[in-house]
Amino acid sequence: MRQADCIFCKIIAGEIPSNTIYEDDTFKVILDASPASKGHALILPKKHYADIYDIDEEVAGKAMKLAKKLAGHMTEVLGCDGFNILQNNHEVAGQTVFHFHMHLIPRYQNAENND
Ligand code: 5GP
Ligand code: ZN
Repeated sequence: MRQADCIFCKIIAGEIPSNTIYEDDTFKVILDASPASKGHALILPKKHYADIYDIDEEVAGKAMKLAKKLAGHMTEVLGCDGFNILQNNHEVAGQTVFHFHMHLIPRYQNAENND
């Protein structure tokens, strides 16, 4: 279920603090500690899956549904002008935390809000 020494498992268990913007039985959504833009968030399945190869297909589908819902909600709240949804797999592709996650990255015409 959870993996020892996984930083996202520790965040999900509440052992490491995070800014949680959404939570349900399956997911916790937190603000990224090194945001690429204002509101950069991460969708974390509560169960540990290493990456896209490992994740349960149904949970992957639910993650995409949640990404759509939050993209709409965050666009309303933050007033962003566009959105990136990003999901890295394996070190060569930029994955640094080996617990599946989806990045929600709001983008702004106003460059001050971008990285
Ligand atoms: P990856 O490169 O694996 O796709 O993304 C990992 C993301 O997790 C990075 O954007 C990084 O800033 C974020 N991150 C790493 N450690 C922590 C942490 O302890 N708390 C939060 N909120 N984000 C983290
Ligand atoms: Zn984990």
